[in-house]
Amino acid sequence: MGYYGMATKDNLEQIVSKEEIQKRVKELGKQISKDYKEKKLVVIGILKGAFVFMADLIREISIPLQIDFVRLASYGNLMQSSGEVRITKDIELNIEDKDVLVVEDIVDTGLTLQYLEEVLKLHKPASVKICCLIDKKERRRVPISVDYVGFDIPRGFLVGYGLDFEENYRELPGIFKIIPGYEPEGFIPSDK
Ligand code: 5GP
Repeated sequence: MGYYGMATKDNLEQIVSKEEIQKRVKELGKQISKDYKEKKLVVIGILKGAFVFMADLIREISIPLQIDFVRLASYGNLMQSSGEVRITKDIELNIEDKDVLVVEDIVDTGLTLQYLEEVLKLHKPASVKICCLIDKKERRRVPISVDYVGFDIPRGFLVGYGLDFEENYRELPGIFKIIPGYEPEGFIPSDK
C-alpha cells in the first residue's frame, strides 16, 4: 500500500538495523573527530541520498564544522553510472584551504566521486576525503580511495536510511535489500 505499484515492503529484506547503523555512525564520528582535530572541517553531503546519514554523522562529530551540499545528475542510466555527471546544485561555502569531507550514500563504480573530487579540487581545499555509508568496492571501475566506510555491502539494490528506489523508502530507519526480481530495471546484480 502506498508505494506506487512497485516493490512493497514485502519485497524488502532488512540487512542493517537502525541500532547497527547508530553504533557504526558513532564510531565513524569518533574517528573523524580525532582525525580532524585542529583542522577546518567542511562536510559536504551529496543530495539526496546522503542527507539522513550526514545528519546523524555530524551530530556524532565533536569538533567544530561547517556543512554544505551538492546535487549531482548523471547523464547515463542511473543504474549504470556513465561517469558523465553534472552538478545541478553547487557548493555555497568557500572551501579554499579547508579540509573537506565528502559524505556519500553508496560508492559503486566510483565514477561519481571521481568526478566530484576533481571539481572540488579546483576550489583549492587543503584536503578532500570521502566518507560513505555503503561501499560496493567489488563493483569499482576507477581506483577511488574511500577514507571512511560505514558498511561493506557488495550485493543487491539497497534502500532506506536516505536511499531510494524511484524516490521511495528514504524514510526507513534501517538499510534494506530489494529482494531479487524486484530490483529497478537495468540494475546489474554483482552475484554471479
Ligand atoms: P557510482 O559510484 O557508480 O558512480 O554511483 C554511485 C551512486 O549510484 C550512488 O550515489 C547511488 O545514487 C547509486 N546507487 C548505487 N547502488 C545503489 C543501490 O544499491 N541503491 C540505491 N538506492 N542507489 C544506488
